[in-house]
Amino acid sequence: MTEHEMMKVGVVEHEVTKHEAAETGMTETGMAETYKPLIYIISAPSGSGKSTLVNELLKLVPSLDFSVSYTTRAPRGSEQNGKQYHFVPREEFEQMIREDEFLEHASVYGTDYYGTARRFLREAEQKQHDLLLDIDVQGAQQVKQKLPAAVSIFVLPPDRKTLEWRLRKRSEDVEEVIHRRLVAARREIENYDKYDYILINDDLEESIDSLEAIVLSERLARSKSPLSPEEKKIVELADRHRLANVRERVGPIVASFSNPPASARP
Ligand code: ADP
Ligand code: 5GP
Repeated sequence: MTEHEMMKVGVVEHEVTKHEAAETGMTETGMAETYKPLIYIISAPSGSGKSTLVNELLKLVPSLDFSVSYTTRAPRGSEQNGKQYHFVPREEFEQMIREDEFLEHASVYGTDYYGTARRFLREAEQKQHDLLLDIDVQGAQQVKQKLPAAVSIFVLPPDRKTLEWRLRKRSEDVEEVIHRRLVAARREIENYDKYDYILINDDLEESIDSLEAIVLSERLARSKSPLSPEEKKIVELADRHRLANVRERVGPIVASFSNPPASARP
């Protein structure tokens, strides 16, 4: 039933609103839903390689949709409206906040708004797809509060120097923006331990395999059927990236941001 049809028959008058329905796994009529999308949250300091990883992941995993966020920032490089982001003026974003259209939203770097529209959750539910949110630390916390079952993944660069090099290599930002992103990275990285999985993006191919394993292993956990030997390998690979299993490797990375050499300080 379309939203328009539901309005006509008064379904939206029910106690369970459409917004609540998408977030609780109930239908608008309060019936148990047959499919509740798995929500994957992926966060990383800018330049870690998150977009590269996400693009590859979406090619590999079926029935996984990307939540195209809304933002007030200007398009960068070859970005297209509706593909990487919905680029909207600040007034339109603020209107969407007032109309409660966002599952979460945040002011990132204190300059621009970014937000996840609730409708992507509803659409994934209708299509029986899972949903991937590429959002910052603040947004991840908001989503975890509302949807505690969401699976969160934090992508780290191998160290600060590599992050700086990747930001420059991308050549999409002016020097001032790169500087701001490096300052923000230090703060963002301190939140790594709020995530379920940590992916250190060193070798790209290995990272893609690991990210795919994390996504598939969460699907396998939900299916509750016995695992084949191949599936067991997937789960083992994913488990290597669980927070508890990477703490030792993360320590030096965090330290490289806390005490960068004088020449590398932004
Ligand atoms: P983010 O989305 O986290 O801001 P990008 O995906 O745009 O980062 O990656 C930043 C730059 O680093 C790009 O030029 C990308 O090609 C490169 N990159 C990504 N992952 C790796 C990797 N594992 N090794 C080397 N370069 C990488
Ligand atoms: P960029 O400007 O490099 O595309 O993204 C900057 C930051 O904003 C990244 O950390 C990205 O994950 C985050 N971001 C993108 N979309 C959203 C969103 O919808 N909500 C929140 N909270 N952060 C977002």
